[in-house]
Amino acid sequence: MVNAAGSFPPLWTVAHILPEDANAQAKWSAIKDSVPPIDTKPAAGETFDAAAYPPDDPDCWWTATKCTKPKVANVPEDIYVVPEPRTLGYGFDDGPNCTHNAFYDYLKKENQKATMFFIGSNVMDWPLEAQRAVKDGHEVCVHGWSHQAMTSLPSEDVFAELYYTQRSCFLAMQSIKIAAGVTCTCWRPPYGDVDDRVRAIAHGLGLRNVLWNTDSEDWQVGSTPNYTPELVDAQYQGLIDDCNKGVYDQEGAMLLMHELNDFTMSTAMKWHGKLKATFKSIVPVCVANNITQPYVEKDIKFPTFEEYIKPANKLATNVTRTSTTTTATGATKSPTPTTRQTANTRRNAWAADMKAVLFIGIGLVFAI
Ligand SMILES: [Zn+2]
Repeated sequence: MVNAAGSFPPLWTVAHILPEDANAQAKWSAIKDSVPPIDTKPAAGETFDAAAYPPDDPDCWWTATKCTKPKVANVPEDIYVVPEPRTLGYGFDDGPNCTHNAFYDYLKKENQKATMFFIGSNVMDWPLEAQRAVKDGHEVCVHGWSHQAMTSLPSEDVFAELYYTQRSCFLAMQSIKIAAGVTCTCWRPPYGDVDDRVRAIAHGLGLRNVLWNTDSEDWQVGSTPNYTPELVDAQYQGLIDDCNKGVYDQEGAMLLMHELNDFTMSTAMKWHGKLKATFKSIVPVCVANNITQPYVEKDIKFPTFEEYIKPANKLATNVTRTSTTTTATGATKSPTPTTRQTANTRRNAWAADMKAVLFIGIGLVFAI
């Protein structure tokens, strides 16, 4: 096994293709000619300047217009609603999180599967936590390497942000020998910031864009001054009220939530029962869209929507792999930090964490 620490960009900085990474270079060479000539957008962090952008939306820039149907050929439409009426698409951005075990325990107890949009730098920091998502039968998608406004990045960096996140998930899952890793086929842009240039690059990596049509705003508590927990509760209650009013009688809701901190996760747990009592069903994105093989590796199977909603369905058994080959040997060091670390600390710790991941193998046994 190669030393993964040398195969990834520095954490929590804009990813660039590593000069010595021949695989990434070759993949980018194969994709770049299919990327439409769209300029980078003016953006800084979470602030977007759409004022100078043409109102006819030539680039299908979601940030400016909520456009979800690409204007370039050969790029699939975004997924942003749930086809089934009164059904809730259940997904969490920004994980994996080092303190998420109570949250994942809750989801397991409730037999509730979700879609987890993982940040590559977090996967490198918390590989064991990333593995739990797959072990527990959740769907895993890509959410970028360092959580950037993607339309503001040069195309090669957009590629690197997605490529290395996809690769980090693959290696993290490979190490627990759900056979041969899992390669994500879905992604969600940080801040929803996507246009046709970014979509085309993601599509070149086999990644389908997933957005949302209702927002818990949970991330704002602790980030936006004076944004209170009560405002987040009001968002959840508003979703329930909308469902009761028939807003989702034709198509279901795709809810944006975050595996970001204890508040966002505990709030999700607090509202799960009420959402369950309101919506006909709550399902991960792939199940909502009858995507039964959400990874490149086709031997991982999820249920169809109809199978999922059967009362006696035991979903954990659906995440199975046919191969159980185990080749890694050595130490079984398995760091499970209990507190959220600073970015600097994470940067220093990531190599050790990833090395541990790569050598976990024989000693790790789990039920799926
Ligand atoms: Zn995010």
